[in-house]
Amino acid sequence: MHMKELVIISGKGGTGKTSLVAAFASIAQKKILCDADVDAADLHLIMEPEVKKRADFQAGFTADIDKANCSECGLCLDLCRWNAINKDFEVNPIDCEGCGVCVYFCPENAINFPINTCGEWFISDTRFGPMVHARLGIAEENSGKLVTLVRQEARKLAEEKDLDIIITDGPPGVGCPVIASIGGASAVLIVAEPTVSGIHDMERVVQLSAHFKVPAMVCVNKYDLNLDLTSNIENFAKEKGLTFLGCVPFDPIFIEAMVQSQTIIEYANGSKAGKAIKGIWNYLSCELSL
Ligand code: SF4
Ligand code: SF4
Repeated sequence: MHMKELVIISGKGGTGKTSLVAAFASIAQKKILCDADVDAADLHLIMEPEVKKRADFQAGFTADIDKANCSECGLCLDLCRWNAINKDFEVNPIDCEGCGVCVYFCPENAINFPINTCGEWFISDTRFGPMVHARLGIAEENSGKLVTLVRQEARKLAEEKDLDIIITDGPPGVGCPVIASIGGASAVLIVAEPTVSGIHDMERVVQLSAHFKVPAMVCVNKYDLNLDLTSNIENFAKEKGLTFLGCVPFDPIFIEAMVQSQTIIEYANGSKAGKAIKGIWNYLSCELSL
């Protein structure tokens, strides 16, 4: 299979990762976009997707006692390890972990166990081609599963349409959602920032990609904010045998472009930042044999 998946991640939010993803979207050919940053999805702000398909995201179950059939034997109260059932035989959905023990043991079969709807996912058209994205319900903890789902859907669509690359906007950090976003990817691009905490965050995602055996490449955004730290990042990447793709300067036009719902390539193609991103994309395409 020649189709590739590039996941763009960063050790934390606010590194300009989504602006880079959007810029790549306006350069790459035969691609599909996937917003796997489901906890803070904002790629749609630039892409202005036109939703073509919408579906519920369902995960986990919650017990629900049917009072009409309950004999008030009290067994479920004793069995529930999370104390999710009160003395009036009502389940508190926040505390219910969905283990199903009460449902299994209830002598009256009085407990329903519906699946939870935790959010929605979408297939959309954008001016740069198809995009798969999602919206997670408030205070939902299932973002890892939703990341897996949007990636699977993006992969299916890419295969159907015979596209060359899935460009995935990954979640920040090193938690469960980012692990769900990189497993099995062709490569990750780590967007680092030249700050002391930025380097630390980058090191953690480098370890994570090494652990999951996904080849990692590195670029620095806002490199001119600290040239010493930028060279530290470059040296670190080289020591670890990672491909260092280059640097993008700090430029307020990223914000201006975003306010206009445009990518930097659309908004300021000839800018230094725009040229730097095109350079990074060319290097990256060679590395991925696109
Ligand atoms: S185990 Fe079933 S019948 Fe007994 S109290 Fe719980 S819901 Fe009611
Ligand atoms: S499903 Fe599990 S956690 Fe939820 S109420 Fe029943 S026993 Fe408690």
